[in-house]
Amino acid sequence: MNNDLEQRYRAVRGRIAEAAHSLQATPPLLLAVSKKHSSAAIRTLYMLGQRDFGESYWQEAETKMQALEDLDLVWHFIGPIQSNKTRPIAEHFHWVHSVEREKIARRLSEQRPDHLPPLNLCLQVNIDQEASKSGVLPEAVLPLAQAIQGLPKIRLRGLMCIPRRREDPVQRRASFHHLAELGRALARAGMPIDTLSMGMSDDLEAAIAEGSTILRIGTALFGERQKTVTNPS
Ligand SMILES: *Cc1c(COP(=O)(O)O)cnc(C)c1O
Repeated sequence: MNNDLEQRYRAVRGRIAEAAHSLQATPPLLLAVSKKHSSAAIRTLYMLGQRDFGESYWQEAETKMQALEDLDLVWHFIGPIQSNKTRPIAEHFHWVHSVEREKIARRLSEQRPDHLPPLNLCLQVNIDQEASKSGVLPEAVLPLAQAIQGLPKIRLRGLMCIPRRREDPVQRRASFHHLAELGRALARAGMPIDTLSMGMSDDLEAAIAEGSTILRIGTALFGERQKTVTNPS
């Protein structure tokens, strides 16, 4: 099983390197989305050189963080955030990709411990304006960014999106292009952003072509997610 994981890891790394090379782009950071996967699998990827891992649920992440305390991992929170869950996220993560409200950003800033550097933060954008998806609407990105950029214990790094599932790669690329445009608008407004968290396993080439700096990949690395993590360590 570890062999499979190693093979998939090398295959994903190879695809990213190849796409970046043929597009003459800087290869994005690979964020290994480990939700519903075991801490043993995370440890295996760590041994192969992977450092950044993404989790969507605090309770699940907590168990894994405890089991992996001996490793210098970089933890990214990528799931929906309820107000009553901001404290552990502010205390234990390095990045949060899924902020969509000023109130959440304020709480994260207030609850970020003083001895830690500011929390790296991306705004999640509902780029295709889907009723079912979370995220701030495109027209509200600039005002939200302006409202939170001065908060002392967060550092606004950029934008994240999950585009609508579409077969047509041209349309997918259009969604990534739109997110990149919104990022450029923040830069023109004087915000030093450097991050576009966009692209997953089936559209990473299109995302890289539009300037992705973080790819979020789960299944293509770890295989199918377990229904429940009964024995996460
Ligand atoms: C689960 C998840 C991913 C990874 O999805 P896979 O299909 O497993 O690659 C990426 N981004 C977010 C926000 C997720 O919740």
